[in-house]
Amino acid sequence: MKVAIVGAGPTGLYTAIALARRGHRVTVVDRDPGPAPDGGWERRGVMQFHHPHGLRRQIITVLDAEMPDVRQGLLSAGAELTILPAEGQRPRTVIGMQCGRMTFERVLREAAVAQPGVTFLAGHADDVLSTGGRATGLRVDGAELPADLVLNASGRNGRLADDLRVPGDGSDCGLSYVSRQYALLPGAEPGPTNVPIGLISRFPGYLAGVFLQDNRTVSLLIARPSTDRQLADLRFEAAFEAAVRAIPGLREWTDPDRTTPITGVLPGGHLRNTYRGQLDPGGRVPLPGLIHVGDTVCTTNPTAGRGITTSLLQAHRLVNLLDGSTDVEAVTLELDTWCTEQIRPWYDDHVSWDADQVRQWSGEDVDLNRPLTSGHIVEAAAAEPPLMRVIGPYLTMEALPATLAEVEPQVREIYHRGWRPAVPAGPTRDELVSLIAPVLT
Ligand SMILES: Cc1cc2nc3c(=O)[nH]c(=O)nc-3n(C[C@H](O)[C@H](O)[C@H](O)COP(=O)(O)OP(=O)(O)OC[C@H]3O[C@@H](n4cnc5c(N)ncnc54)[C@H](O)[C@@H]3O)c2cc1C
Repeated sequence: MKVAIVGAGPTGLYTAIALARRGHRVTVVDRDPGPAPDGGWERRGVMQFHHPHGLRRQIITVLDAEMPDVRQGLLSAGAELTILPAEGQRPRTVIGMQCGRMTFERVLREAAVAQPGVTFLAGHADDVLSTGGRATGLRVDGAELPADLVLNASGRNGRLADDLRVPGDGSDCGLSYVSRQYALLPGAEPGPTNVPIGLISRFPGYLAGVFLQDNRTVSLLIARPSTDRQLADLRFEAAFEAAVRAIPGLREWTDPDRTTPITGVLPGGHLRNTYRGQLDPGGRVPLPGLIHVGDTVCTTNPTAGRGITTSLLQAHRLVNLLDGSTDVEAVTLELDTWCTEQIRPWYDDHVSWDADQVRQWSGEDVDLNRPLTSGHIVEAAAAEPPLMRVIGPYLTMEALPATLAEVEPQVREIYHRGWRPAVPAGPTRDELVSLIAPVLT
């Protein structure tokens, strides 16, 4: 089959390699020309490119299934497996990979460039071509690119064929990112983390994170309520540095004897939870031969680090469905059903959890008149560690959010008795504001 893929992000690249290895001829179209000869890569239009990324075990599993050489390539490029040491009955477990987004995409792209059967075309995909009610290719910068199958992997901001499927569901995550990358100095010991992936601390009014990445680099993150105009000043270097030096867990990573900054302070754009299936309002495949995959189907609050996992799980499912059938309309329907069952629950989970987090940030207590959201259930593991039997598989995405229902009544009882999560030691939102204001005047 001749396949045209719009988008050379993780989804498009993974799918291109997997399909080419099955003998298909694949053209990947992206408006981004790829890394510059000097190695720099600005990656305009993909605002998360330089922000921290946590990579989950599922990503390693789908790489191993289709392209184990890419996993090896990532490790050779400086990524490290994230390993949970053995404890009690639990064996030593690989739970993900410490790897920055740029390294991840660079290695995947190099594999796609080297892959016989994959061609890259730099340009903007304007439109999907169709004849007789079937997709027949793409219009790229005005020129026609014929194809038997068109895959839309154009990401969270992609607008391709927007009018062809039912409008998506979506809502604001309620938070905005600001982050900065640092490199450990030669011989310096890493700073503190609470898990092998890094550190996430929820303070009143904001969230702080440390993401371990490849090649002894680390990304420090502050996520603030998007409506908080004063904390928006964290995008200024002096303010960000003053803030991270005051936040326990982040402060140690910015010690000049330990690390040096390797980027400026990176503000983030709008963050939304979105879900959009394949079908038209009548439940039919609107244009057989056109399939949407990756972030064009689902995006979720990035602080949980689920996006590349939900994207590559879809891509892996798609290539396997295409293995078993040449009927692309049936494949589209099957993928849509699978995504509704396996991917949509993560979207739904974030919609309720994020709304709760915004309420918490504005000082509201847990509302025991409504079903508890996963955020509250997860936090209760601190009060009752055996809850991890159920919460653990949810946190690692081995079990869908609905599995938390089993412990909801027990957790409700814990909150009912008056237990509340401990607030970590560190500046409150107001203290952070008064800390950063003077350095900006
Ligand atoms: C701030 C932030 C932090 C995140 N952190 C994490 C994390 O820690 N862990 C995690 O797993 N996920 C994380 N994610 C999610 C993750 O980045 C996405 O899930 C991932 O990028 C999806 O890959 P994709 O290939 O589907 O889309 P993208 O990476 O967005 O790629 C889409 C590509 O399509 C191209 N394109 C779009 N339209 C056109 C067109 N018309 N013509 C030509 N080219 C086009 C774009 O240039 C782009 O290259 C984060 C997201 C954000 C926003």
